[in-house]
Amino acid sequence: MKLHTSANNHAPPQFQSWGGYPRLNADLVALNWAGDFPLRHSPENSMLPVGMGRSYGDSCLLDGGTLLGARGLDRLIHFNPETGLLRCEAGVSLAEILDFAVPRGWFLPVTPGTKFVTVGGAIANDIHGKNHHVAGTFGCHVPRFELVRSDATRMVCSPSENPEWFHATIGGLGLTGLIPWAEVQLRPIVSRKMDYRATKFRDLKEFLDLSQASSGVEYTVAWIDCVSSGRNFTRGIFMQGHHASQPESLTPSPEPRLSVPVMMPAALLNHYTVAAFNSLYYHRQLTREKTASLDFEPFFYPLDSILHWNRIYGRDGLLQFQCVLPTMEDTRGITRILRAITDSGLASFLAVIKVFGNLPSPGMMSFPRPGITLALDFPVRREVTFALLDKLAATTLDYGGSMYPAKDARMTAAQFQAFYPQWQQFSNYIDPAFNSAFWQRVTNHE
Ligand SMILES: Cc1cc2nc3c(=O)[nH]c(=O)nc-3n(C[C@H](O)[C@H](O)[C@H](O)COP(=O)(O)OP(=O)(O)OC[C@H]3O[C@@H](n4cnc5c(N)ncnc54)[C@H](O)[C@@H]3O)c2cc1C
Repeated sequence: MKLHTSANNHAPPQFQSWGGYPRLNADLVALNWAGDFPLRHSPENSMLPVGMGRSYGDSCLLDGGTLLGARGLDRLIHFNPETGLLRCEAGVSLAEILDFAVPRGWFLPVTPGTKFVTVGGAIANDIHGKNHHVAGTFGCHVPRFELVRSDATRMVCSPSENPEWFHATIGGLGLTGLIPWAEVQLRPIVSRKMDYRATKFRDLKEFLDLSQASSGVEYTVAWIDCVSSGRNFTRGIFMQGHHASQPESLTPSPEPRLSVPVMMPAALLNHYTVAAFNSLYYHRQLTREKTASLDFEPFFYPLDSILHWNRIYGRDGLLQFQCVLPTMEDTRGITRILRAITDSGLASFLAVIKVFGNLPSPGMMSFPRPGITLALDFPVRREVTFALLDKLAATTLDYGGSMYPAKDARMTAAQFQAFYPQWQQFSNYIDPAFNSAFWQRVTNHE
């Protein structure tokens, strides 16, 4: 969560998420103990818990309210070394879990493309990773957590205790109350290494064939070139891997040493530099197929080694678009989306495509569902980027898909309500004192 203090000492501070767009005024109350919540609050003043602000758009922001900084709830509470069940406070980051668990032979059950997210954030967005097709979402591996409401009601939630609150809070966008602690079921490993295979593909059809052929492999994801057109349209590199089975000594990860020190001029990231990067990236692998033994850090978190990499987008920031389209047989929708992106010349080099599996997500509002998911970053060039994102959202809707709130600052209320028709049922579980900029936008409620 990035804080911008205003030059005017009387103005409330501004906050932005990872994308740097939008920036909204709010107050921040840092929670250090579970007992710090509930707060005494006025009924007009809404609240929202926040973790590390690694969501891209406005789902972790609130205009004019109070952000409850939950990162200070950072204690590991209990670990069973026989079963791998960890109980921790919800502000513990996935990086901290890895530092503790890897030397003991355990690993996260599901991890996103960065380890700098909190357990609370991972539950509230019911995040997914490269193993979605075999492991489902993060929430599938959270047997229990506690929920505290602004009226001081406390509930332990699990599939059998307060199950309706369990399902509403997983993927519940932080709106059902504060999660002070949760249990996470880790999975065993014997090595830091990953057996890795990268295969170049020429187009979407080859990507789908590779996805189908590797449906039993634990982790799969692909980088797709969203800039090149003509015969290079939708070329990419399909990456798959699994934890190595040869035991080795398990050490914690080193601290990242590189950092983007200042905001870069936005002009550095243009169609030509991205096209050049994509071409180099595609051709740096000379053969169609490459295998390697890789540490899990570059396999799961290639960008985490460079702190503040979002600064390369400059002061105006970036927006991410992530959709899922339901069908694998009919690729017209995803092709239209990819064509619109390529034609716009706006795409960055960070574009990933993956086939989600069909394990049901436990959250009432969880984003993942069976189909093809595409995620990529765009620099914020105001109206040009907004027009493209509006077009992509409209196409997603036309083809029966959905979009990911954790990566969004643009979808309209009508689009959101079509993507998540259960939103009204979910509203019954929202804490009356809680709100977010995202929720205000997609429900037209202040
Ligand atoms: C480089 C990068 C790669 C990413 N890759 C992926 C990916 O592969 N898959 C994926 O699913 N996501 C991915 N994400 C998105 C990220 O995983 C989610 O946005 C995640 O929720 C961020 O967690 P956070 O701790 O930063 O929470 P924040 O962004 O601060 O908040 C996220 C939500 O959690 C709620 N929340 C936070 N703490 C609590 C709490 N204690 N109690 C109740 N609610 C709480 C907030 O209200 C908010 O709604 C990526 C993000 C980045 C920057």
